Amino acid sequence: MADFRPGTPDQEEFLRDLVGAGYLIESGVPGVYGRGDAFERVRLGFDAKVTAASETESPEHMVFPPLLPRRQMEDVGYLKSFPHLACTVFAFEGDEEQAAEQEQRADNHEDWSGHQRMTDLVLKPAACYPVYPAVAARGALAPGGVMVDAGGTYVFRHEPSGDPARLQAFHQREIVRIGEPETVVGWRNRWRDRSLELLRSVGLDATTDVASDPFFGRAGRLLARSQRSQELKFEVVVPIAGPEPTAVASFNYHQDHFSSVYGIEMDGDGDTTAHTACLGFGLERITLALVRAHGLDQDRWPAAVREELGL
Ligand code: ZN
Repeated sequence: MADFRPGTPDQEEFLRDLVGAGYLIESGVPGVYGRGDAFERVRLGFDAKVTAASETESPEHMVFPPLLPRRQMEDVGYLKSFPHLACTVFAFEGDEEQAAEQEQRADNHEDWSGHQRMTDLVLKPAACYPVYPAVAARGALAPGGVMVDAGGTYVFRHEPSGDPARLQAFHQREIVRIGEPETVVGWRNRWRDRSLELLRSVGLDATTDVASDPFFGRAGRLLARSQRSQELKFEVVVPIAGPEPTAVASFNYHQDHFSSVYGIEMDGDGDTTAHTACLGFGLERITLALVRAHGLDQDRWPAAVREELGL
């Protein structure tokens, strides 16, 4: 595993504590864990808080599987920006002889990819991706646009690490706003502030900052710089297992990126291209931040925090 990033001593110790106390269950692969009861109670408790906060805006709910049609990953340019994080699904295509050869190699734990072919699927890297083509397929949007709650679904990033806050499979709770540019930007900024309140209400030391995505390569550094200078992305960061505070939520203004790809239009005259924004809560990171802040024993968490999370 050439690209494995070891955790700091503090992160490795936190991971051992989480496994020891039954929050996480090791799989043998860094960044891929089962979750025990203690973990799920907190994760779902915070998820419910996001639901309660968003219901005042009556979002439409869409639920998608953790897989994405490969075509969508290609269309949105994911492989240009994040080729290092993409996870693709391959499956066996071959005859009986090749199947036997594959089995033999697998029995020996050798590379058995020789008779595997790319399928039409990839693992979903962001919960909002399937929302854009689904909305585009309905035709032009009425004034005001739409808000879609895409739920808290598994997303995947190929970045094995010893830091328990850097997972390869985690739940991203995403909400998407599509509409006129000023509507979308106002919504994004309101949610950025609302998220700070949500996170502080459960005792987290949350702050917000302009951020950029982990774009690949030299061209990526330019993209990241322009993303920052235009304030397209904000993150809320909280301390987990350092050294720096960790991003637990992000607020992204895509301008017309997704609407141009899929042809999302507003009903009306003149320039009718819709703009889009999304926000994502990293539910695992928020859970870890809560454990870090309040301790492994949930019975000893502050009563107000327990109440907020329904524990
Ligand atoms: Zn998104």
